[in-house]
Amino acid sequence: PSRISSRVRRIKPSPSTSAADRANELRRQGKSIVNLVVGEPDFDTPAHIRRAATEAMDKGATRYTLMSGTVELRQAIVAKLKRENGLDYAMNEIIVTSGAKSAIYNAFAVTVEPGDEVIIPAPYWVSYPDMVIACEGQPVIVACPEANGFKLTAAQLEAAITPRTRWLLINSPSNPTGASYTAAEYRALADVLLKHPHVMVMTDDIYEHIRFDGETTAHILAVEPALRDRTLVVNGVSKTYAMTGWRIGFAAGPADLVTAMDTLLSQTSGNCCSVSQAAATMALNGDQSFVAESVAVYKQRRDRTLANINAIPGLSCATPPGAFYLYINCSDLIGKKTPAGKPLQQDGDVVMYLLENAGVATVAGTAYGLSPYFRLSIATSIENLDEGCKRIAGAVAELH
Ligand code: PLP
Repeated sequence: PSRISSRVRRIKPSPSTSAADRANELRRQGKSIVNLVVGEPDFDTPAHIRRAATEAMDKGATRYTLMSGTVELRQAIVAKLKRENGLDYAMNEIIVTSGAKSAIYNAFAVTVEPGDEVIIPAPYWVSYPDMVIACEGQPVIVACPEANGFKLTAAQLEAAITPRTRWLLINSPSNPTGASYTAAEYRALADVLLKHPHVMVMTDDIYEHIRFDGETTAHILAVEPALRDRTLVVNGVSKTYAMTGWRIGFAAGPADLVTAMDTLLSQTSGNCCSVSQAAATMALNGDQSFVAESVAVYKQRRDRTLANINAIPGLSCATPPGAFYLYINCSDLIGKKTPAGKPLQQDGDVVMYLLENAGVATVAGTAYGLSPYFRLSIATSIENLDEGCKRIAGAVAELH
């Protein structure tokens, strides 16, 4: 018998972490590896944000804060939600968490009873199903094929809802596809949700500002305010402000839900880092020019890498309107053989082949719940991306 609980034994380590580990191992062995795995901005946190952290430290902001976050940061979040999303929240409807990840997990932890269902459109961010499982819930994966823009339709939502449905999880723009719901698409989903008042909605808005099509990211709550009492808005500073290491995310939602999260977190982890909260306050209140500047850089990389990938016979990639990934269709490679004669039976074999034979690290679509695809991150230099594409092209040309 294992001394690790069955609840935890059911979950697996993050596949993107495993892929990164394997790439690092090959690198240690002296192989040249182009790492296109990591999903974090390659920029430094902007200087004015770093300065706010040092100043906070020097002024003594080194102690416990309120569990739900400093007044300054929650005020900044209230202002952000109003300014950028047109949403009204009070201070007691907001909680600051250690990254968006912690907000999502803790929201499940305070609401999911054993066997409760969470509808997760696939492809999905790798952590969602495991978080649900860790809370003894049941992930209900709904495949959203490329032909539908990798998006959930109203009919699919209607069919997936049962009396056990606790949550619908929405991530727009999405990791890994960049798929972004329009206001009209949200309208259709909201119409279904209005018929099923027991279903709560969690929106993971972490990539909202990383858009390449000039569109502002729509929000289901702005489209249908009647959902407010059962919606939890999750966001954070990690991706928008290149602050992944600072670990600041937040959730905004009905007070009973936020209070329950506050209670659980107060007994398990306590408040978020005081210095990081000061930095995040500056990120939200301060100069926003970094956002447009970094998005312009991501867009150049996206355009160029997308063209390079689509020029490779056997690979194709739909244009992602947001986030910083390419989700590449490799169905034409399935069934081909490597130079060593090994058949590629699934996207995991393609990813292994690219890693071992060409030294390019990516993540297989199986990790995201929709195959056969692989994900490549464009949050790295043009040089890395060009070299990666060159190697992928060479390796694919050797298949037969
Ligand atoms: N949500 C999505 C869709 C993500 O891709 C990520 C990071 O990869 C997160 C949440 C986690 O964000 P944070 O670093 O704020 O915990």
